Amino acid sequence: MGVLDGKALAGEIRERVTQEVARLKEATGRVPGLTVLMVGDDPASRIYVRTKHKVAEKLGIRSELVVLPGDSSQSQVLAGLRRLNRDDRVDAILVQIPLPGHLDTWGILDEIDPSKDVDRFHPLNLGRVLTGQADLFPCTPAGVVRLLDHYGVDPAGMDAVVVGRSFIVGKPLAAMLTNRHATVTVCHTRTRDLADRTRSADLVVAAAGRPGIIEPDMVRSGAILVDVGTNYLDDRADVERMCPPEQMKRFERRGSAIAGDIHWKAWEKSAWYTPVPGGIGPMTVAMLMQNTLELFRDRGRRLEWPGMS
Ligand code: NAP
Repeated sequence: MGVLDGKALAGEIRERVTQEVARLKEATGRVPGLTVLMVGDDPASRIYVRTKHKVAEKLGIRSELVVLPGDSSQSQVLAGLRRLNRDDRVDAILVQIPLPGHLDTWGILDEIDPSKDVDRFHPLNLGRVLTGQADLFPCTPAGVVRLLDHYGVDPAGMDAVVVGRSFIVGKPLAAMLTNRHATVTVCHTRTRDLADRTRSADLVVAAAGRPGIIEPDMVRSGAILVDVGTNYLDDRADVERMCPPEQMKRFERRGSAIAGDIHWKAWEKSAWYTPVPGGIGPMTVAMLMQNTLELFRDRGRRLEWPGMS
């Protein structure tokens, strides 16, 4: 079994982005600008947003957070987005999901200028992913595919099972793996016999948000296991049952531990696996930074900024 080390690869990608940002700053006098729009104060979203902000600043990207009150109306959020669409300093816009329940998520994602859409959730950009015309991809699926590529794991011809059908992970990833010639089955809560599907798969990607739902007897020996799930556990018994022993230290320190959707005891059966933490999580953030840089470059070329190559 080999580790698909997302943390290490993410570090390399971030290093390359840092160098390119510095080079382009020198050449153009500009730095890429990423703005995150958040509505309300969901504690989990705050943590994610803070991580993105800290990493962006470290890489030399200008990062800005716009927080609108949780009771903002649809038209107030749309007005905020239109301002960002027009703002010349903003190259990349990210709307933090989930949005409060009274808002129409698709109506809001639809409003992002597709050329500033860093998460690639605008229907035009998702459509390009589907048809194989995309140059940039949603960050988490992009992280999965980049990590497989890095370790020379070619999905062509594989039977792949993707557990989860969200537009954030499961659906775009299923399209990307299909475009790379895997035969893809997408599973969800109405799938009749999940274990039967996963057991016959060469590649299992779990993105359900349910700790440990893929148990060791649900995967075949030699499978490739990619775990997108990020589940915070704060109950000692759950941590002992679901997390590898080293997570216990984190639990003692912070009162919570992280478990994936794939039970860690399945790792030893695999040919390759992504650990949680240290797998797809850091890759997602690295791909966000990479996408921000690419949008900056595209704008610079389109608007013919002096010094932009
Ligand atoms: P989501 O929108 O809640 O979607 C979850 C999907 O999993 C749904 O399609 C759901 O099916 C399916 N599902 C849930 N329980 C299932 C079960 N018992 N059996 C089969 N399918 C089941 O979640 P998401 O945004 O895609 O995120 C999924 C997980 O990935 C979460 O843990 C999230 O925190 C994590 N995530 C991590 C990163 C990262 O950077 N590592 C990035 C994004 C997401 P239905 O459609 O039938 O409800």
